[in-house]
Amino acid sequence: MSRGNLIVVSAPSGTGKTTIVKALLATYPSMLFSVSATTRPRRETEVEGRDYFFLQREDFERRIAAGELVEWEEIYGNLYGTLKSEVEKALTTGRTMLFDIDVKGGLSIKRMYADDSVIVFIKPPNIEVLRDRLLNRKTEDEATFKRRMDRVAMELGMASQFDYQVVNDNLEYAIAEVDKLVAEHTSQERRV
Ligand code: ADP
Ligand code: 5GP
Repeated sequence: MSRGNLIVVSAPSGTGKTTIVKALLATYPSMLFSVSATTRPRRETEVEGRDYFFLQREDFERRIAAGELVEWEEIYGNLYGTLKSEVEKALTTGRTMLFDIDVKGGLSIKRMYADDSVIVFIKPPNIEVLRDRLLNRKTEDEATFKRRMDRVAMELGMASQFDYQVVNDNLEYAIAEVDKLVAEHTSQERRV
């Protein structure tokens, strides 16, 4: 069974993975978060270096060529990727790292770090609920909203390849389910 230093949370956009990941980071103070690189513009609530490293496309492509990314995907017209330097922070120190990445990226991490990773797929209760969550988040214009919804069927079709699946209907329950997996696969101290 995997040792589970890398805990990957993947889901179609709007399902709630960022909300769940933030709750776990608040519960486990020594857990690291893999800050991804992206060419997407920063949202108002996001902080450079905390939520993402926001890069120009040329810079991102230069880093791919230099071998600085362990996986990357073009999603909704932007590049998103996991930096080798982030993964090494966890693997070289034995700490646990949480990933909030797309479904294909989650499977890439499993392929590369099979013994060190646990990959969890978060499912929406149904497509209508997912659509409402994405609309209520108010971060997307019509075109990007549509692009996100267009990927959902493909992403849901990959759920069975994950180590675990958790439905995010009731948020507290979903957080507790992922928390149980963290407790099972790692030895994290809870915040007291
Ligand atoms: P993702 O990171 O998967 O794109 P977010 O964490 O941004 O999704 O969640 C999308 C929206 O849905 C946010 O506005 C969040 O507050 C809300 N949300 C998340 N989980 C639930 C839930 N179980 N019930 C209702 N709303 C939720
Ligand atoms: P958002 O624009 O909503 O922040 O993210 C869009 C999608 O990109 C989400 O599914 C998010 O999890 C994913 N994503 C974020 N970082 C990475 C990454 O490093 N690699 C991959 N493959 N996907 C990522």
